[in-house]
Amino acid sequence: LMIVARNSEKLSMVSQMAAGVAHEIRNPISVISGFVQLIKKDPSNIRFLDLISSEIERMDGIVSDFLLFSRPTKESMTYSYIHVIMQETLELFKAQMQEKQIGLQFEIDEDLPMIKCEANQLKQVFINIVKNAIESMKADAKLVVEIQREDRNHIRIRIIDQGVGISPKELQNLGQPFYTTKEQGTGLGLMICVRFIEYHGGTLKFQSKVNEGTTVDILLPIQPKTMSSAGMTYS
Ligand code: ADP
Ligand code: MG
Repeated sequence: LMIVARNSEKLSMVSQMAAGVAHEIRNPISVISGFVQLIKKDPSNIRFLDLISSEIERMDGIVSDFLLFSRPTKESMTYSYIHVIMQETLELFKAQMQEKQIGLQFEIDEDLPMIKCEANQLKQVFINIVKNAIESMKADAKLVVEIQREDRNHIRIRIIDQGVGISPKELQNLGQPFYTTKEQGTGLGLMICVRFIEYHGGTLKFQSKVNEGTTVDILLPIQPKTMSSAGMTYS
């Protein structure tokens, strides 16, 4: 009976992850379609081809990430600069933010160290959180992104929006699979964030006021403990 229970738990996790992959693949697909439309309208936009191919690569990476996620190996972690991953993320939303007339303030500490991480996973996290922030805001609002050295062993990434906010009751549902308040939402973005940040031994914190905005704090260790010794399971 125990085994049956475990198997069914495993199965629901697998189907959750499958839905998650589909969700995450949809982001690059919409970026790609946007650029393809631009090129169709005006062939001189062909310069966006590089962005298109990097998005295709990202989709490939996402699929591997989810596979990797179910079987973590510390060998796959490499040293990366968080602010570079964030810069790349913000680049992807540039057009969308311009169109929506949302301002950006991006501030980073000097001399940030590299951190040992799974860069594709962290990019996924940043994309999901920045996307939620942009979706929550109206024209003329501002997105603030700060990256700071918290202490010797941690980096803090703070994403502040001036959006609709989240009520205390709704806050409790964040990260639950399929929890969404959006018509087109899937409610999988934050679930993936929670798991990927957990994978890195970090923490994710939401503070919010309805009609004022939301602050998301991600605290990441510079040198995460190996996954096995962190005592987490990934079945
Ligand atoms: P989705 O974006 O598909 O709805 P997410 O898991 O990304 O799924 O987010 C779940 C829910 O959390 C959203 O539907 C929204 O209600 C809430 N949420 C997340 N981030 C924000 C934010 N920055 N501002 C307001 N609400 C948010
Ligand atoms: Mg989302």
